Amino acid sequence: MSGHQTDRPLLQVSNLCVEFRTRDGIARVLDEVSLELQPGQTLGIVGESGCGKSMTALSIMRLIPSPPGQITAGEVRLAGEDLLRFDEQRMRDIRGKDISMIFQEPMTSLNPVFTVGDQIAESLRLHEGLSDKEAAARAVKMLKAVGIPEPQARAREYPHQLSGGMRQRVMIAIALACGPKVIIADEPTTALDVTVQAQIFDLLRDLKERTSTAIILITHDMGAIAEMTDRVTVMYAGRVVEEGPVEAILDAPKHPYTQGLIACVPQLDPNPTAERPPLEEIPGVVPALTRLGKGCAFAPRCKYAFERCDQEAPRRVSVDADHRAACWLLEEGTSA
Ligand code: SF4
Repeated sequence: MSGHQTDRPLLQVSNLCVEFRTRDGIARVLDEVSLELQPGQTLGIVGESGCGKSMTALSIMRLIPSPPGQITAGEVRLAGEDLLRFDEQRMRDIRGKDISMIFQEPMTSLNPVFTVGDQIAESLRLHEGLSDKEAAARAVKMLKAVGIPEPQARAREYPHQLSGGMRQRVMIAIALACGPKVIIADEPTTALDVTVQAQIFDLLRDLKERTSTAIILITHDMGAIAEMTDRVTVMYAGRVVEEGPVEAILDAPKHPYTQGLIACVPQLDPNPTAERPPLEEIPGVVPALTRLGKGCAFAPRCKYAFERCDQEAPRRVSVDADHRAACWLLEEGTSA
């Protein structure tokens, strides 16, 4: 799909539901999750651990372990085609070719017994049908493209011989090797120190400009959201609680949970002198997904909660063109 000829989203997730069987019962880890990604766009998915961010990514890639997990409803359309209807063979063709993933800890995703050059070349042989020689040459080019010095020599090295930042660059090179339409980066810099984090974000931004690859950036870091994304989806307890353009989310967040996330990053707080709790002081923790009540999942931690919040889950409503949130305060005509 060229992305210029139609308004159809490149990736469209609609009402995705995923359940896991656990000893404590059925956990609905994703509850009617919907999101859209346009070509060349960067969408941030933000929330604390356990909110369903990584589960969303794994479900899009059809990589959730099943059993115990199961996609029970919804659609994941890539350029119009529902990936949930594809068989495993077809998904294997899509992974790495049309959608690639970058994980938090590259050491666990890279194979320790193959050189990094071989690991990039493998994807090219598999998906592009390149010969060994062509694939090896392209692997060196990819290492160069992600800013690895002396790429020819580095291609012959093993993962343990590289620094954490270099390994993450290798992962990005593997992810980009076949020119995917979408890259899903799941906390790609969390394991790296701050300077290297900035370099990896620079690299992703630069690649985005040069290739028009769309990126889903999964993070708990509002700073990364501010720097990197065009749109933001905020998740809590397996649900999308707010979504909109990054400026609207950061400057005028409507959901109390989003407000709490933003207030914990001092430089993002539009009103830094106001009394707001830092993130670790949002009272309580993400609830067990096996024990969610019928009301708003955030209610036990929400300082604005009122009677209706415990009784009924709020629907997502438009607060502005292109900006939606799920909170009863918005329907009651008051603002948090
Ligand atoms: Fe808080 Fe109620 Fe809004 Fe949920 S619906 S975020 S509990 S005010």
